[in-house]
Amino acid sequence: MRCSVDVQGWVRCPVCGCKTRTKVLPDTVLENFPLFCPKCHHETIVNWESSQDVRKPRSAVNRASA
Ligand SMILES: [Zn+2]
Repeated sequence: MRCSVDVQGWVRCPVCGCKTRTKVLPDTVLENFPLFCPKCHHETIVNWESSQDVRKPRSAVNRASA
């Protein structure tokens, strides 16, 4: 299962959407990671890659031709 990460890098629980105590860096890759949620006490196996969730600003791309 894929999980989402907030702007500060905290991994969010795929079950309840709450912040977990797991943090990732921009180049962190999680593969079959047992993510434990302190809120709903569910453990979910998650996969996460920063390139899938980090959206690069479009202006940086368009500026090359301007
Ligand atoms: Zn949860």
